[in-house]
Amino acid sequence: MNRQEEAFMKTISMKKIMTFCALAFITAAPVSAQKFENDGKDLINATAWTQTSGEWAALNLQAYQLGKMRLAQIITQEPLTKPRAVVLDIDETVLDNSPYEAHEILSGRSFDQNEWEKWTALAIAEPIPGALDFLNFAKNNGVEIFYVSNRNESERSATLRNLQNKHFPFADNEHLILKTTTSSKKERRRQLSEKYDIVLFFGDNLSDFSDMFYYENGSKPAVQVVKENAYLFGSKFIILPNPMYGDWESALMKQNPGKTNRREVKIRSLNSYSVPKKSVLLN
Ligand SMILES: [Mg+2]
Repeated sequence: MNRQEEAFMKTISMKKIMTFCALAFITAAPVSAQKFENDGKDLINATAWTQTSGEWAALNLQAYQLGKMRLAQIITQEPLTKPRAVVLDIDETVLDNSPYEAHEILSGRSFDQNEWEKWTALAIAEPIPGALDFLNFAKNNGVEIFYVSNRNESERSATLRNLQNKHFPFADNEHLILKTTTSSKKERRRQLSEKYDIVLFFGDNLSDFSDMFYYENGSKPAVQVVKENAYLFGSKFIILPNPMYGDWESALMKQNPGKTNRREVKIRSLNSYSVPKKSVLLN
């Protein structure tokens, strides 16, 4: 090997070492990116869409305008013996918590109850587009409003403060029904329906409407139950967009017992198709 060849080989070796170092750096260095990969919640796209797309705002406005049209129709009908009421969830239904999700992403975390309660204590969540307009329409037409949420009792005063600061009607203790023992809202809905004719439900999660959508071992997938009850959507149930979290994630995990990696389960759940070979496409 002459000196020129030796120098060339040294350069190659140096390049190999540098490439190895660079690869090692890429593998080890971007800690935050690794955390995003590992937290399994894939929140970045969902939160960016919620916070920056016109589509998110438009979908919410569309839902509340549909609710308004439906309520305008209902109040022309003869009332039942009970007063009319509308039941709404809070998070991602009347209040936008996407800044909390953004904070969790940038902190490299997934959901954390303590961090969540620090956020709700700030009482600064903005109203979901269209919510206030609809709720004032309901109030002005003699329809009572109940906020049925799975926030904890410890969050009651901050939640009320947030709703009051943003001028939500009926933002008082009587109309704020929080979680006591169970996340299921069935019993809370039942108690309300003893006194009120609940004409519309609003939520970002199917369990805001009925427990029939909950997935338990062997039960029908929510998509099927939704399709079988299509007539309820837009007439009694008004759903808001929330790509950041929901019962669908826990249902997916239940459908894959023994699996713990959410990201892997989601990837495996993707429904793709076979791409025809090039030659087939060219024929
Ligand atoms: Mg919600």
